[in-house]
Amino acid sequence: MIATNVLVIGSGVAGLTFAVKMAERFPERHITIVTKGDEDESNTKYAQGGVAVVLDAEDDSFQKHIQDTLVAGDGLCDEAVVEMVVTEGPKRLKELIVWGANFDVDAEGNFDLGKEGGHSEYRVVHHKDITGFEVERALLHRVSELANISLLSHHFAIDLITEHHFESTDTESISCYGAYVLDESTGAIITIQSESTVLASGGIGRVYGHTTNPIIATGDGIAMAYRAKARIKDMEFVQFHPTALYKAEGGTSFLISEAVRGFGAVLRDKKGYRFMPEYDQRAELASRDIVSQSIDRELKKSGDSCVYLDCTHLDVEAFKIHFPNIYSNCKAQHINIETDWIPVVPASHYLCGGIVVDSKGRTTVANLYACGECSNTGLHGANRLASNSLLEALVYAHNIFDFLSKNSTTTELPNIPDWNDDGTGITKEHILIQHNLKRLQALMRDYVGIVRSDDRLKKAIKHLDLIYNEIEELYKTAKINTALCELRNMINIAHLIISQSLNRTENKGGYFNIDN
Ligand SMILES: Cc1cc2nc3c(=O)[nH]c(=O)nc-3n(C[C@H](O)[C@H](O)[C@H](O)COP(=O)(O)OP(=O)(O)OC[C@H]3O[C@@H](n4cnc5c(N)ncnc54)[C@H](O)[C@@H]3O)c2cc1C
Repeated sequence: MIATNVLVIGSGVAGLTFAVKMAERFPERHITIVTKGDEDESNTKYAQGGVAVVLDAEDDSFQKHIQDTLVAGDGLCDEAVVEMVVTEGPKRLKELIVWGANFDVDAEGNFDLGKEGGHSEYRVVHHKDITGFEVERALLHRVSELANISLLSHHFAIDLITEHHFESTDTESISCYGAYVLDESTGAIITIQSESTVLASGGIGRVYGHTTNPIIATGDGIAMAYRAKARIKDMEFVQFHPTALYKAEGGTSFLISEAVRGFGAVLRDKKGYRFMPEYDQRAELASRDIVSQSIDRELKKSGDSCVYLDCTHLDVEAFKIHFPNIYSNCKAQHINIETDWIPVVPASHYLCGGIVVDSKGRTTVANLYACGECSNTGLHGANRLASNSLLEALVYAHNIFDFLSKNSTTTELPNIPDWNDDGTGITKEHILIQHNLKRLQALMRDYVGIVRSDDRLKKAIKHLDLIYNEIEELYKTAKINTALCELRNMINIAHLIISQSLNRTENKGGYFNIDN
């Protein structure tokens, strides 16, 4: 057993920012971070566009950023949260810079601000087109300098420890006491006991076959919190990124950032017709939901597998400076952006919903906090404004830190039982996991995609039940392994997305059901 003051699950921008703040302020407290892959593997690492922050006092204002966020959220944002996050942004960005993150500046030394879909002004602070990589690098470096942080990579959090794991259960008031964690290198399951636990476990992209997210994005934290009876909300609002590089075989797709459309690229069908002005007066710069739904309609009409992003009229030298990563990735796929159109398709990208938290990052389970993409703060409403997610993670990591700085946890830690795997054996049936993962992803793509219907959603519930039963049976008899736990978590996430979609009777933001 490991005892720690604070357990952080996840090493993306949310978890690392929180850990650094806590460790700097309280050198006597011990912070343990567990992360299931390599220490830098996260959605954060792949963020391209940047962080939306109001820094240009002449043309921009907090009010404009608030308004843009509210418009994207389509009436479902919590206005007080939007105001708090937007106004805190500049302070949180400064801290990142102090920790060593570099952002692009122009010849005068002012931030080179980008503009993305849904933003009325240039306000996206970025590091070339690899902003997330730079943020992750700087944070991991700072973590390595702090002796009171232990970062355990290849440690997979299986379940939160709550009253549900004790024999004499008082499940009326639920508290979190840490987590059971699988050490992937030894196969041992460790009990990590903590006064406070912070879920910073990221998104769910992999529930869908086509996604911009890396393979770690399996919704583990949300599924764990759901099983611990925390409140989960807004799961129907899955944001699809309109322009992921098309790959016939599916899997993780390289993202062609919104900023490329901000830079002047236009969308065409295979005959060359520029269709976006037909759907929205902002054309390619309409918000993501509108662009994704428009592409979905075009593809359903034509039966094609992808549409095209045309950059051939743009200044290629300037393109290379702004988007070196996109340029070289296209080149590696034999796409010359000077002469070829880039084939693109919408792919699951970001989850607006998640574990409900208050403004201090507290979930409905005592001593359990959440920040970053796994949380539901009220900032995004029905649709996230581009580049507001890194911002949200920074602000809520700070808010949890601030709360814990002022309020020490007084709950008495109970005697925690070790993980019980009596009666389980090593599974010889990996094919069951692979097969059911493919079934799940196909189900979510075909029945629970960008445009939904009540009929397809109800059918999806039935199909999901079959997958659920097969995997629960396996879970009860097999020794724990990461692939099995991830699949079990993704089944929970699919259930939440489908059931919360069926509860939604009005189309809003990123959610579109033809029967509403
Ligand atoms: C391609 C791409 C481009 C993007 N571009 C932008 C952008 O320009 N601007 C913007 O604001 N946002 C962008 N986003 C979204 C943004 O990157 C994410 O929302 C944000 O980084 C989430 O940070 P996080 O810390 O919450 O989660 P993540 O960065 O995903 O980190 C989650 C961590 O939790 C760990 N983890 C998960 N489950 C477990 C478990 N069971 N046990 C242990 N560890 C676990 C993971 O391994 C990982 O370390 C982009 C996302 C993608 C995929």
